[in-house]
Amino acid sequence: MIPTLTGTVAEDALGRVLMHEHVFVLNAELMINYPAMFPEDAMVERAVTVLKEVQATGIDTYVDLSVMGTGRNVPVLHRIAEQVDLKILLATGWYTYHEAPVFAQLNGPGRLFDGPDPLAEMFIQDIRHGIGQTGVRAAVLKCSADKYGMTDGVMNVMQAVADAHLETEAPIFTHSDPGNGTGLAQQDYFESRGVDLTGVVVGHCGDTDDLDVLRRIADRGSVLGMDRFGLESRLPYEARVEAVVRMCALGYADRMVISTDSSVFSMNFPDAHRRDHLPLWDARSVMPRVVADLRAGGVGEDDIDQMMQHNPARILGSASRREDA
Ligand SMILES: [Zn+2]
Repeated sequence: MIPTLTGTVAEDALGRVLMHEHVFVLNAELMINYPAMFPEDAMVERAVTVLKEVQATGIDTYVDLSVMGTGRNVPVLHRIAEQVDLKILLATGWYTYHEAPVFAQLNGPGRLFDGPDPLAEMFIQDIRHGIGQTGVRAAVLKCSADKYGMTDGVMNVMQAVADAHLETEAPIFTHSDPGNGTGLAQQDYFESRGVDLTGVVVGHCGDTDDLDVLRRIADRGSVLGMDRFGLESRLPYEARVEAVVRMCALGYADRMVISTDSSVFSMNFPDAHRRDHLPLWDARSVMPRVVADLRAGGVGEDDIDQMMQHNPARILGSASRREDA
């Protein structure tokens, strides 16, 4: 069984899944010191409204990839989950493009304070026993690499993610930057650690429409996160649709998932900017708009089901399948 915010769900009951979203993108330091930046009651209310609307479009499951470094806050999310039927899955990991948190730089194997890797221990704890005192278990692992490439800090987190994956078999989701090849570098590292790449979702592949880049990642078995529809600054919406249409025509529907990487509220992204410039960057647009445009582009129902249901079930169910075997 796969852990959700409010219980567990069987692989075949996940339904249609958004594989890379965020209820909130927050900052724990700001929330402690400037609490007015996150009016919790109003934000919970907003999230309940939005997530009910997401579900009304035909989505059943929502993977929230917020982790430490982006203010993952399970008690607040739990207030929301209790009021919606949408199944919400959580992640563990540490979000950084550059440096690891100082405690992780100083503690761990071969570091100033020699001992077990604290990040790996945290991630395993989140997956096996639950996050903090909430009892809510993380379903997936997350790491990131962006414009700075595979820095020491990025590698520190990746190493812990690989350790936790090898221990728990939880699937790995990444944030990559197809512009500088970090997706391939993530694959190289995980492969070197003996991770089965077919269980790795390389995120933000949809930021490119270079089919050679996409095929190089997909041909190694990983699933491409075509997961930023509506984020115009990286690649226009139409080009994202066209890339998925062409990849489906080449037979890659079993290697892609569709999502938006948007959020109900982000401390980093002003509401007004999104309203004025990114109207489609919204989880509520996937079924009525993205999927409709894929169909109009010639993608068949089998391929839609493959990307929205079967691929997510295969990836998210991988850990529990091995557990049950
Ligand atoms: Zn994200």
